[in-house]
Amino acid sequence: MSALAIEKNAVNLGQGFPDFNCDPALVGAVSEAMKNGLNQYPPMVGIPSLRSAIAEKIKKLHGHSYDPATEITVTAGATQGLLTAIMCAVHTGDEVIVIEPAYDSYVPAIELAGGKPVFVQMTLGANGYAVPWDNVAAAVSPRTRLIMINSPHNPTGSVLSATDIAALADIVRDTDILILSDEVYEHMVYDGLTHESISRHPELAARAFIVSSFGKTYHVTGWKIGFVAAPVALSAEFRKVHQFNVFTVNTPVQYGIAQYMQNPAPYLELSAFYQRKRDLFRTGLQDSRFKLLPSDGTYFQCVDYSAISSTSEVEFASWLTSEIGVAAIPVSAFYSTPRQSGIVRFCFAKQDETLHKALQRLKTI
Ligand code: PMP
Repeated sequence: MSALAIEKNAVNLGQGFPDFNCDPALVGAVSEAMKNGLNQYPPMVGIPSLRSAIAEKIKKLHGHSYDPATEITVTAGATQGLLTAIMCAVHTGDEVIVIEPAYDSYVPAIELAGGKPVFVQMTLGANGYAVPWDNVAAAVSPRTRLIMINSPHNPTGSVLSATDIAALADIVRDTDILILSDEVYEHMVYDGLTHESISRHPELAARAFIVSSFGKTYHVTGWKIGFVAAPVALSAEFRKVHQFNVFTVNTPVQYGIAQYMQNPAPYLELSAFYQRKRDLFRTGLQDSRFKLLPSDGTYFQCVDYSAISSTSEVEFASWLTSEIGVAAIPVSAFYSTPRQSGIVRFCFAKQDETLHKALQRLKTI
């Protein structure tokens, strides 16, 4: 869709990345590290000051203490964290429960590790998308090694509640199933909701890899830097794969972020920043023929277009890009077997003027 958006000169609300720059102070901190000669290999697991800053943040926000020496590893973005966690945890023939729609890197990583994805579909009701925990429980078998969760959730914008987490805990209690929790949108939750990080739940944290991404939090998706937090035994296994999968992550960016993290305001204010953009976008579509689904977190807004067209999601998204001039992503792309729900995803991590331009075009439908 991005390629088509460029070809058709469409406003690209497809791919999930901001069209505005990050804080100059962050660029300054990274540049300073480069100028100061911090340009050689860092420690394999990440520089100590960044791991400490991550551990302190998690402790402050969620009350869980990770030992920065043994339980936090800096990764080349969340994607490498996910792949590495899967490679170390999943072995030939192991089953991994994947809740669909799901981010596109999960299944290839599972298959690369020799595992078998077992799919459970989210349900779509009046309150938006939800995880049917009974179906997750029914999908568990003696071969289940890992359950993957993602909250706030791409592409649906749904956010797991404490009740959801309790249901997950009930499912894995008395088993040796591990959890891989993708929390890259951890700082984007709206309307006063809480991000129920797995680190808030000691029973689950004891068996979980938590993955996050500075790319999302600091508007620098191209820097590809994130981290994985996991208890010592899981981190030890993670690091065995990490060492030969990526070895180390970009030194000056680590120093720059470690310094920038001393000020919590940028991540604490992120929800308010994106909630305003979400509201601007939703208000603009209020009187359109699109039906707005809830967007409780992430920078995504899903819409039901069934009042406009009965074509497939791919056809509709292509038409929207080519004829209306606004790119969106078909939600069917997030399923192993494409299913047609008549829903596409827009990304509102854009300058207000980009959103206004897109809205002007969308309102002509
Ligand atoms: N998980 C989810 C749910 C995502 O949406 C993304 C980015 N689109 C990633 C992981 C990957 O993050 P990164 O760019 O840090 O690898």
